[in-house]
Amino acid sequence: MPIVADIHFHVEMALAALEAGVQGLRLNPGNLRKPEEIKLVASEARDRGVPIRIGVNAGSLHPDIYERFGGATPEALVESARLELAYFDEVGFSDVKISVKASSVATMIAAYRLASETFDHPLHLGVTEAGPLPGGLLKGTAGIATLLAEGIGDTLRYSLTADPVEEAKAGRQLLEALGLRERRGLDLIACPSCGRAEVDVIRVATEAQAALSELNLPIQVAVMGCVVNGPGEARHADLGIAAGKKRGHLFIQGQIVRVVPEDEMVAALVDEAKKIAAEGVAARLAARDLGAEAEAQADRALLLDDRGTDANHTTERIARIRRRAEDE
Ligand code: SF4
Repeated sequence: MPIVADIHFHVEMALAALEAGVQGLRLNPGNLRKPEEIKLVASEARDRGVPIRIGVNAGSLHPDIYERFGGATPEALVESARLELAYFDEVGFSDVKISVKASSVATMIAAYRLASETFDHPLHLGVTEAGPLPGGLLKGTAGIATLLAEGIGDTLRYSLTADPVEEAKAGRQLLEALGLRERRGLDLIACPSCGRAEVDVIRVATEAQAALSELNLPIQVAVMGCVVNGPGEARHADLGIAAGKKRGHLFIQGQIVRVVPEDEMVAALVDEAKKIAAEGVAARLAARDLGAEAEAQADRALLLDDRGTDANHTTERIARIRRRAEDE
């Protein structure tokens, strides 16, 4: 595994890390400030073919720049990177990537937008000190995803107050969600539940997530609360289950393949996911229970009879809203 040494304050540490054979360095221009020392490290890195990340951080910005710009503004962060880059240029070193992180999502986004207009070098994205889950994950995603969606960014890191494994997982999942990496693991989608739900969707989705994650399969699985809308709404999923009258309708790419008892819904998903991985979607569709679609249709009809086409009581709610509006 490549090692990147993250250097603050001590030039000797940077030189020692290079001697030890690290594959990359990160230098913080805010606390490694002497031009001669910066150029010395860049020269050593150049001779050894080791890349450096100029890691500007709003929380440890160079005091002179902080004062000049009146704070850790996006312009100040980019200026700090520009000055460091100028030292590197003096010694003919250009194997560089740049980060301009801040714990404020808005500042970070503005800084990276400006950096992408200013530099041709690759950019490393991150919201620094984002904090524990779930807030840290939300902040990191808000900043990183916004920029990636604009085509800005080459590498990334989530800075979470959590096990580093969670950081790596979050990064991977974000890239998969944005379609920037092929799916390697489970993507569990589930409906938010509503008046039509025939099952505790949160419980079933949580159990399914736990059971299917262990399989480590690149598969999208849907857990839907009702058979009336579920299979249609999740027809793009590789595999899914929708709850009916004490039964689950198992579907592959929207086609019903089996009807199972409600308490076997999660087990049926796990079993079918394994079979899809072993045999492929076409083979599993061909092996479907031929009576399943008719059974499913009968369940759907029963539910519609029971609860009508307006299970969310839309008409009644609209009338209530109008009455309240009139009262006010
Ligand atoms: S209509 Fe059915 S699938 Fe859609 S949110 Fe409600 S319970 Fe879930």
